[in-house]
Amino acid sequence: MSNVLIVEDEEAIAELEKDYLELSGFDVSIENTGDKGLKAALEGKPDIIILDLMLPNVDGFEICRKVREKKDIPIIMVSAKKEDIDKIRGLGLGADDYMTKPFSPSELVARVKAHLARYERLVGSGVKANEIIEIRGIKIDKTARRVYVNGEEKAFTTKEFDLLTFLAENPNHVFTKEELFNRIWNMDSIGDIATVTVHIKKIREKIELNTSKPQYIETIWGVGYRFKV
Ligand code: CA
Repeated sequence: MSNVLIVEDEEAIAELEKDYLELSGFDVSIENTGDKGLKAALEGKPDIIILDLMLPNVDGFEICRKVREKKDIPIIMVSAKKEDIDKIRGLGLGADDYMTKPFSPSELVARVKAHLARYERLVGSGVKANEIIEIRGIKIDKTARRVYVNGEEKAFTTKEFDLLTFLAENPNHVFTKEELFNRIWNMDSIGDIATVTVHIKKIREKIELNTSKPQYIETIWGVGYRFKV
C-alpha cells in the first residue's frame, strides 16, 4: 500500500483529501506545519507528497527544494493562487505536478495514482544512473560516452574514447602498444601499433594541460603507457 503525505495547514482541506485517498486504498498521514511536514518527508517513507505552498514555519518552496536534494518521489504542489503555481513552475524546484485550490478530490486521487504508476515504472525499469569515472578533473561518462575536462566537454572519436576509458579503468597498469591495439582495435582491424601512438597523442591534446609533460597518460619508455593516478 502506498503512503501519501499531505502537508496542509487548512484542516478541512487536509481531511477531505485524506478521506478520498483512503477510500482509494492509500495510507495517508497529515502534517499541518511546514517544519513538521519537512521532517515527515525526509525521515518518514512517503511514496508521494501533496504539498501546500503557504504553510506556517517553512513554506512549500523550501520543503520541495529540500526534499528534492534527498528524494525523487513524486511531489504534487497545491496553492490557492494561480500566480503562485506559475511562480513555482518558473523556479524549477522539481515538483512533478501543480494544482490550484479548490480542486475536486477525485481529480487529486487520479493524479496521485498517475504519478505513483509513472514513478514505479521508472524505478522498476532498472534505469540506472550513468556510470562515471572521475580522476583528477577528468570525468568520463561511460553511459553517455562523453568526456569532460575540468567541467568542459571535449569531443572524442569512438576509438579515442575507448582507449582513454580502458586506461582510466586500469590505473597505474602499464600496457604495451600491442596490448592496447589488440584490446581496442581488435584483430580484424586494419592498422598497426603506430595507430595507438597517434591516438594517445590526440587524447593528450584534449586532456593534458601541457602535452610535453603529461599528467594523466604517462609514457613508459620502451614499454608502453599507463594512466597515472
Ligand atoms: Ca496553506
